[in-house]
Amino acid sequence: MANPDIVIIGSGIGGATIASGLAGSGASILILERGEPLPATPHARSTRSIFLDEHYRPKEMWREAGGAPFNPGNYYYVGGNSKFFGAVLIRYRKEDFSELEHFGGVSPAWPFSYDEFEPWYSKAEQLFRVRGTLGEDPTEPFHSIPYAFKPVPDEPPIARARAELKGLGLHPASLPLGVDIESWLKEGKTGWDAFPNTGQGKIDAQTGPLAEALMDPNIRLETGAHVDWLETAPDGKSIATIHYTQDGAQKTLSPKLVILSAGAINSAAILLRSPSAKGRGLANSSDQVGRNFMNHNSSAMLAIDPRRRNDSVYQKTLMLNDYYLSDGKGGKPLGNVQLLGKIDGNMLKANVKTMPKFVLDFMAGHAVDWYLMCEDLPDPESRIMVDGKEIVMQWRRSNMQSLEGLTKVMRENLRACGYPIVLSRPFDKRTPSHQCGTVRMGNDPATAPLDPFCRAYDHRNLFVVDGGFLPTSAAVNPALSIAAQALRVADYLRKTELAA
Ligand SMILES: Cc1cc2nc3c(=O)[nH]c(=O)nc-3n(C[C@H](O)[C@H](O)[C@H](O)COP(=O)(O)OP(=O)(O)OC[C@H]3O[C@@H](n4cnc5c(N)ncnc54)[C@H](O)[C@@H]3O)c2cc1C
Repeated sequence: MANPDIVIIGSGIGGATIASGLAGSGASILILERGEPLPATPHARSTRSIFLDEHYRPKEMWREAGGAPFNPGNYYYVGGNSKFFGAVLIRYRKEDFSELEHFGGVSPAWPFSYDEFEPWYSKAEQLFRVRGTLGEDPTEPFHSIPYAFKPVPDEPPIARARAELKGLGLHPASLPLGVDIESWLKEGKTGWDAFPNTGQGKIDAQTGPLAEALMDPNIRLETGAHVDWLETAPDGKSIATIHYTQDGAQKTLSPKLVILSAGAINSAAILLRSPSAKGRGLANSSDQVGRNFMNHNSSAMLAIDPRRRNDSVYQKTLMLNDYYLSDGKGGKPLGNVQLLGKIDGNMLKANVKTMPKFVLDFMAGHAVDWYLMCEDLPDPESRIMVDGKEIVMQWRRSNMQSLEGLTKVMRENLRACGYPIVLSRPFDKRTPSHQCGTVRMGNDPATAPLDPFCRAYDHRNLFVVDGGFLPTSAAVNPALSIAAQALRVADYLRKTELAA
């Protein structure tokens, strides 16, 4: 195969979005994706298949450092993890770009301000056709362009929950969502959070930016192409060759630019596996590749009223940021609260195996299901490592005081709203949904592998554009921030590397 100008490794949020940002530039671009497109089958809307039979999980095991192997909830399809995402496309708050003190330590500043980044958020919202509304959320940062589409409507039990929370003096707000609700429901009356998107209902990496990118005849996608390692030129200053496996054959490519977008964990693993003079992988003179792994501290919270059924189909339309910047008593930040997709008995059974199914069906049928999310802070000892082909995860959770505080205050609030039973349970380690931080950007090459445009300080032609670049996790879902930076980096490449 002739060498393209640019190879993008991975077709998830980072890879697909930067491809769309480079469309029309004239550069020849090849996207190498390890997975295949998701097929439309009845499994896609079956909670039994998805949650109990784990039909979509990869046939791959990772290992906890010093512990047992586990099968991760990390998905390899065209579009990456976004095929399963909850489609919440929310901005970090302005304050997240500055140093922020938390109960568990300090969240560092980004290498640029919210104001500098804001136009890219607006462009990403347009690309993902985000539905939302402004003016409801007390932590909402400045938007130069309003949302182009009205928010996804609350179902009646959720409209009631919104009114109940308002009655407590809180500020529930519509979740910004990349969901075309009519199109989603046409294919099945289910929620979308953690369901695979086999149609056009969710605007994910594939149905949004990748579809746009592939309209450019210079951009191509190859699936089933598993990148194994990168090789540098003899001086070590640039990437000379990409080594990958496709249909059982070992292949190589040598483009001018390499954009690594395999997701925070796999991008770190590819860099760590690649040979280098010092033996600690590529882009790693800072020794930070794989470190500062973050994944949010989060819990599911079920507010149950045995007298009232919750017959919502999708449910996921509300968030609450009253505790985002402070615990409400002048103390430090707690985090974000948002609805989960509507839970059913199969989903509960996947987590609580010992309880009879009819009890779980009753609980699920009478619960409003919330997701509490708190910032995980960067820690060099929280890290992804490799042992041969195996990925080893050493996640050191941080700032758990915030999750305890948020759980306590939300339990009180939901009881005050009239739900006599409020149950909560933290999400387990097998689900690295919001993985980030492992190849972070920063102004100092001694402490960050990437510069503020995601270029590797060590190799001029290597960019890492996925959740790995995020210097902090904040306490909101990451996809929109990854997409906004991907568009910013694409613009930078057009003005520098691709300028005539
Ligand atoms: C169930 C679930 C719900 C979520 N909900 C939300 C939400 O509501 N809002 C939100 O903002 N975020 C959500 N997320 C997280 C969001 O999906 C991720 O933050 C986002 O997809 C990360 O983008 P990325 O580019 O870093 O990686 P990904 O989107 O995962 O893309 C990585 C791509 O690289 C490919 N790849 C990996 N290794 C290789 C290799 N060696 N060779 C070639 N290709 C490779 C993968 O197959 C994949 O396509 C959710 C995630 C999950 C799992």
